[in-house]
Amino acid sequence: MEIVENLIKIRENIPENVSLIAVSKTKPTNLIELAYGQGQRDFGENKVQELVEKQDSLPKDINWHMIGHLQRNKVKYIATFVHLIHSVDSYRLLLEINKQGFKNNRIINVLVQIDISKDNTKFGFTYTEFNELIKLNKFKDLKNINLKGMMGMASFSSDLSIIEREFNELNNYYSEHKINLNLNILSMGMSGDYELAIKCNSNMIRLGSTIFGTRIK
Ligand SMILES: *Cc1c(COP(=O)(O)O)cnc(C)c1O
Repeated sequence: MEIVENLIKIRENIPENVSLIAVSKTKPTNLIELAYGQGQRDFGENKVQELVEKQDSLPKDINWHMIGHLQRNKVKYIATFVHLIHSVDSYRLLLEINKQGFKNNRIINVLVQIDISKDNTKFGFTYTEFNELIKLNKFKDLKNINLKGMMGMASFSSDLSIIEREFNELNNYYSEHKINLNLNILSMGMSGDYELAIKCNSNMIRLGSTIFGTRIK
């Protein structure tokens, strides 16, 4: 089966320190099971309902990553099991995740999404907005959150120099704050740009179509 071959090939080509998140959105559970059979344990989804349904019907040792825009009123559905939320894009969302973490007696791992692209379609904090949170020390009271790093999506562009600039900017920003915020995850890179992202210091890549084939929806 192609998925198995794809996974093997990707793993051969990425450094050992880079975590591979298999983005299974829109893909049926039997395809996820194929990847699981190949030892893949980290999967990413971008819709809460789909994530909950898949978590329910698949092996419990899967690490589920929420990578899509998350509405505050839906945090409660994933708070009991989610492994890492990549897409925290507002302080109010952070507060809600903290609250649900407390309710479930969990410390929830999160990344802040930084809006590094010039597309207006993407979510995330601007550098200026996130600087403000750091300055006000907004994280110190959120005991049920573990801020582990940053996530960014580059512009949708065929010009690799644009993408490279955006990745480098985020890497510089991440490196600047890594020590004081105690971060160790830089989540950058999708099917079209993950090799470049790794060159720019990414240590977590989120691959969908390269593993599972192109999506119809
Ligand atoms: C869909 C998606 C991916 C994977 O995209 P591919 O191009 O299929 O690899 C990665 N990250 C996020 C946030 C996504 O929504």
